[in-house]
Amino acid sequence: MSTRKKLHAEIAGAGIGGLTAAAALAQRGWSVRVHERAPDLRAFGAGIYIWGNGLKVLKAIGAHDEAVVGAHVGQSFETRDHLDETMERIPINSEGGAQLVTILRETLIRSLTNACRRAGVDIATDSAAVAATPEGELILADGTRHAADLVVASDGINSQVRDSLGLLEYRVPLQYGATRMLISRDDNDLPCAADRDKYIEYFSGTRRILYTPSSKTDLYVALCCEDADKAALAVPIDQDLWKKSFPHLGHLIERFADAGRWDSFDLLKLRKWSSGRVAILGDAAHAMPPYLGQGGGCALMNALSVAVAASENPQDIPRALAQWESRERPLTEHTQHTAHMMGAMNNWPDAVRSDVLKIVGRSEQLARERMRTAVHIPTGTEAEPTDLPVVASASAV
Ligand SMILES: Cc1cc2nc3c(=O)[nH]c(=O)nc-3n(C[C@H](O)[C@H](O)[C@H](O)COP(=O)(O)OP(=O)(O)OC[C@H]3O[C@@H](n4cnc5c(N)ncnc54)[C@H](O)[C@@H]3O)c2cc1C
Repeated sequence: MSTRKKLHAEIAGAGIGGLTAAAALAQRGWSVRVHERAPDLRAFGAGIYIWGNGLKVLKAIGAHDEAVVGAHVGQSFETRDHLDETMERIPINSEGGAQLVTILRETLIRSLTNACRRAGVDIATDSAAVAATPEGELILADGTRHAADLVVASDGINSQVRDSLGLLEYRVPLQYGATRMLISRDDNDLPCAADRDKYIEYFSGTRRILYTPSSKTDLYVALCCEDADKAALAVPIDQDLWKKSFPHLGHLIERFADAGRWDSFDLLKLRKWSSGRVAILGDAAHAMPPYLGQGGGCALMNALSVAVAASENPQDIPRALAQWESRERPLTEHTQHTAHMMGAMNNWPDAVRSDVLKIVGRSEQLARERMRTAVHIPTGTEAEPTDLPVVASASAV
């Protein structure tokens, strides 16, 4: 029997990034403890788009099959203008196109949690982390200090662990956000029955409605507007106001839930993604606006890749983390930059946005190309999930 001490990881935050890193490390022989501040493992935000890159990570950690049970697999993503005319139609889940499923967030978190449990991860709830040291200690709110070979800070956009290490370069509030809600599906929500299984983003002025079937019975709706548009972001939703912007969606708007969660979008960059034995990942490291639906995808990729990097070079974790960052950061920042640029469309006049997107959308080939190039696809894209993490096959609008 080997007498070699197990490598140990302490992880702050049981969101998409933290749970993925935990499962991937434990599957590589590490002992892993995850600290979640909340009293239970809950997911906010209704539904989520998981593109091909994220699906590959889920496969690699054995969470895929559970995550996609009941998922919606649409055939196209459309953008519509203020007159309900299609500006762009991007085919998905067809041969050569991007892969995408939409699922409930709670299903995703449950599948990740179960992958962690199968791999023997210890998950502590009601356990808030407040800081870490480059030497590899995670410090909790109750003052206890936990030594580890690797500390992962995946405690979200307001990461206290990241801030204790002084790694933030900048954080830009984008003055735009979304109220997300989950409601039941209804055949009469859209004027045309043939549209019911599509993913559709409706634009009108500076407001958007994102229509996302997320299972046979669940519809994820995001109402997006400027932070300054106080009447539009109020919850419960002002249905008359939204109907004025989207008269063709009256039936859907009348069914909006009384509750919903508003989140403002931020863009965030770090000076470095690590400090000594501490890695920062997910929104704590690279929060981005959700126009590509890739914040979670990047968290999934970087969580798996940090586990691989640390497992390949456990003798020199700081060096392994520096190499991980130089490999993964360019793709993540490309994604972040593209998502940020797409937000510019929010402020274009309706007619201009409609004309421009219709020109782009006229060619299916162009739309497909835009999908593929919006996120840089490095060589090796076709490799199997087991070849991850150097494979980042992100495809996004
Ligand atoms: C409107 C909107 C729509 C989006 N849509 C998509 C989409 O369709 N597809 C996609 O891929 N991404 C999407 N995203 C982005 C995605 O939600 C995030 O990128 C993703 O959740 C980041 O995961 P994370 O694990 O880094 O952080 P989080 O999901 O924020 O998880 C952080 C965890 O840490 C815990 N925590 C916080 N502080 C502490 C502490 N001090 N100690 C211990 N635990 C702590 C939190 O409770 C939480 O459980 C969207 C974002 C928004 C705002």
